[in-house]
Amino acid sequence: MEARLHGALTRSLDALLSVALAPGCASCRRVLEYPTGGPVCPACWSSIVQVVPPLCGRCGDPLPSWRILTGMERHCIRCRRVPPAFDCARAAGDYDGSLREIIHAFKYDGRRSLARPLARMMQDAGGALLDDADVVVPVPLHPWRRLRRGFNQADALAAWLDVPVVRGLWRGKATLPQAGLRPAQRRRNVRSAFRLSPLVRPTSLLDTCVVLVDDVRTTGATLDACARVLKDAGVREVRALTVARATPPR
Ligand SMILES: [Zn+2]
Ligand SMILES: [Zn+2]
Repeated sequence: MEARLHGALTRSLDALLSVALAPGCASCRRVLEYPTGGPVCPACWSSIVQVVPPLCGRCGDPLPSWRILTGMERHCIRCRRVPPAFDCARAAGDYDGSLREIIHAFKYDGRRSLARPLARMMQDAGGALLDDADVVVPVPLHPWRRLRRGFNQADALAAWLDVPVVRGLWRGKATLPQAGLRPAQRRRNVRSAFRLSPLVRPTSLLDTCVVLVDDVRTTGATLDACARVLKDAGVREVRALTVARATPPR
């Protein structure tokens, strides 16, 4: 009875809101039919392109076929050429189309309520990474950028992953935005940017399994730099989980 009443009230509220305020979907801008269901319409959620196997055993990028699945060949060409400092990585979807719009709305338009459904996508894609992990560590923003944005998107995502969060890293040096830089420039740009947070006991991460969390992975240079710091601090295994993966510039 109570559930029916709640359902009826929600439907009335949806009808009222969609007529009175006509809020648009944060991704496709079409008027939301069910505004109480969140700022993104169901069609946009379901059009997200998921990352599907076969995947590189290291960085989680799709491999061209199941045919090559022995030894080192389970790794993509980039990982074979320059193995990253993290042990494995996963992303929920491609940084394209609606997922790109949703992440933009989350990061730049202050739609922080999107953290929860995005984190759920990360749990679905990266359950195996999270299951036996000791802690999740969000990739930090430079303090100035965090101040401007009002929050750290990686922090907001990490909070919904049901694994203890440790803000174990510190971003010391303001770096250029990674977008638009070539892979080698990206690595140089971030190499010295991260260090262990002064608020974390240096021995607290010894022999732990850590999942690094961020919104988007492009070349993996940021995650690689973070993983190096964690490994130097004695972390046994570093895994990387992001909402999306973008195709790196050539
Ligand atoms: Zn939409
Ligand atoms: Zn790879």
